[in-house]
Amino acid sequence: MKGGKLIIFSAPSGSGKTTIVRYLLDQPDLNLAFSVSATSRPRRGKEKNKEHYYFMTVSEFKKHIKNDDFLEWEEVYRDNFYGTLKSEVERLWAEGKNVIFDIDVVGGLRIKKKFPKKTLAVFVKPPSVDELKIRLKKRSTESDDKINMRIAKASVELATAPQFDKIIKNYDLDTALKEAHQLVAEFIATEPQKEEECKKE
Ligand code: 5GP
Repeated sequence: MKGGKLIIFSAPSGSGKTTIVRYLLDQPDLNLAFSVSATSRPRRGKEKNKEHYYFMTVSEFKKHIKNDDFLEWEEVYRDNFYGTLKSEVERLWAEGKNVIFDIDVVGGLRIKKKFPKKTLAVFVKPPSVDELKIRLKKRSTESDDKINMRIAKASVELATAPQFDKIIKNYDLDTALKEAHQLVAEFIATEPQKEEECKKE
């Protein structure tokens, strides 16, 4: 696999990373395209197939695992599989784009390991776990059980922050957006470095 740069934004659910990623996608100077992940989780609210995710059943997802179709995949919550299809990244690279990912910390670090030079891995830090809880409740797209599951995972995810290239503190959204734009613009401006082969884990 060859091509443009890879920009990863990982964070606990509710940290605001999706808002940051959407903002960056609207910045023409960055030439970014969003990597649509595959997932076996049910559709939420107004989500559309192929736009927000490639929605599929658990058995379809497992078939892709067997065929080695994923760059990385993860069972983020029980029976809720998420993964980045190699074909998705290749498609966007073929369009001459830099690819941006909104994925979980494990998946983000896996991609960084496979493409250490062409990847910028950014961790978005929420002000606190309590604030995260408030944001998830406000979003009110999920049951209390699901929210609690996400909160429990958040503490584990926060501990991985030092493994990322950069940490953005999302305490004030405007500041976080500006910081994210600057970081990505600087990274994209650096000379592309060769990474011939996908490293095996
Ligand atoms: P949500 O269900 O809220 O859309 O996503 C749950 C978590 O899965 C989020 O942390 C999201 O970033 C992550 N996620 C989404 N796509 C992928 C992917 O392709 N790979 C991995 N490893 N995680 C993903």
